[in-house]
Amino acid sequence: MLIDGTGGPPHGPVDIVIQGNRITAVRGAGTPGLPMRANRDPKADHEVDATGMYVMPGFVDLHVHAGGAPKNAEAEYAYKLWLAHGVTTVRGVPMAGNDLTVKEKGRSAKNEIVAPRIFNYQRPGAGWDQGSIDSPEKARAYVQWAAANGIDGLKLGAERPEVMTALLKTAKSLNLGTTAHLQQGGVAQMNAIKAARLGLGTVTHFYGHFESLLKDHVVQPWPVDMNASDEQWRFGQVARLWDKIHEPGSPEWKAYLQEHLELGTTFDPTLTIYSAGRDVMKFRNADWHDKYTLPSLMAFYEPSRSNHGAYWYDWTTEDEVAWRNFYQVWFKLMNDYKKMGGRVTTGSDSGFIYQTYGFGFINELEMLQEAGFHPLEVIQSATMNGALTLADPSGKAPEFGMVRSGLLADLVIVDQNPLQNFKVLYGTGAVRLNDKTGKPERVGGVKYTVKDGIVYDAKQLLADVAAIVEKQKRAPKSTTSQQ
Ligand SMILES: [Zn+2]
Repeated sequence: MLIDGTGGPPHGPVDIVIQGNRITAVRGAGTPGLPMRANRDPKADHEVDATGMYVMPGFVDLHVHAGGAPKNAEAEYAYKLWLAHGVTTVRGVPMAGNDLTVKEKGRSAKNEIVAPRIFNYQRPGAGWDQGSIDSPEKARAYVQWAAANGIDGLKLGAERPEVMTALLKTAKSLNLGTTAHLQQGGVAQMNAIKAARLGLGTVTHFYGHFESLLKDHVVQPWPVDMNASDEQWRFGQVARLWDKIHEPGSPEWKAYLQEHLELGTTFDPTLTIYSAGRDVMKFRNADWHDKYTLPSLMAFYEPSRSNHGAYWYDWTTEDEVAWRNFYQVWFKLMNDYKKMGGRVTTGSDSGFIYQTYGFGFINELEMLQEAGFHPLEVIQSATMNGALTLADPSGKAPEFGMVRSGLLADLVIVDQNPLQNFKVLYGTGAVRLNDKTGKPERVGGVKYTVKDGIVYDAKQLLADVAAIVEKQKRAPKSTTSQQ
């Protein structure tokens, strides 16, 4: 059964012919209800018998970091978890420092390492030795340097208006992509609509949306004892924005989305990465931690004044209620944009806030469905929409993100129907009662991930990850202890 990523309905049975790293044909293999057609040419050197399974385009995760010490010293851990969950392309924002990311991007392109395709987005100033970007002149010089040094796009913050203008204009002229986390410190000067008017490609996270829609204020009405450097304040208070804005469906709300639609802004919400805020117990105890989360990564998630995203100093019922309310409005904003024809994509930002690589990406699919997306719309966001967002700055058509003759062979194969339940895509599968045995069992988990024509056994990738985790658990404490 094929789900092609464009939004078209599932159909099958089909044969997918791959030569080298390209799909060369997608053809009917028979009629539903009848035996498969016999003598289906061409005979292949290698055949994956996916009878009864579902095939989708490889997933695109538009917001990743590869970790590094003290969380997970080796990028291999993240790479294998991504591939094991069907993620064949990642946009690092950044994935790692520029030199390392350029090197890893090249090795992945040549398939010298087991890793998804890598797009290298970097923060202004990353990788060069000319200091911070504090003027329009420096902004232009940096972007020119970036374009010549293996950088595909910019990961921006809420930069000062004149610097933001120079960064965005220069990036556009050099065919570099742009995505921005419009952080609270700068958002009063550079919210999402102001950034989009200057040419920003993608708004990632939620920062900047609600600040563009504030009803009675031009800055968020923070409590007077606010301290934005304290992460419980920072992450706790942002949720309190949900009822300070023009209401969902109001003329201002509609005008806001309409302007983004006309500007062609992509929304990459990363719903998953804040989801522990509405139920920290759920993600602290997620099914996958025991076998697949490194102790060093788990330690990083635990309440800590020094680790980013570990803001559970005194996380209360009231904090979770605020986040649940916030999510309802955020979901509506994303779903309304989708309904108008706006592009919404999938990004996970895993490696923080109890979200482990790969698993966090599947959680994003579940949350888009919660936002009101039909499962086929979720798959479209996770495949074609991501590919379009990466291809757009180059002015070329995407080479992946759909299952179609002529495109690169990036596929996800699973022995359950993901439209029926996205949980079957988790490496730990979905729990289902087997009525024949009367016992619950775990079903699903991606079976094969095909990246660039290479078939990876997803269960083997997970076994590799489990071994990495087991090894760290057995190692003497002195070599694994983290600050
Ligand atoms: Zn991030």
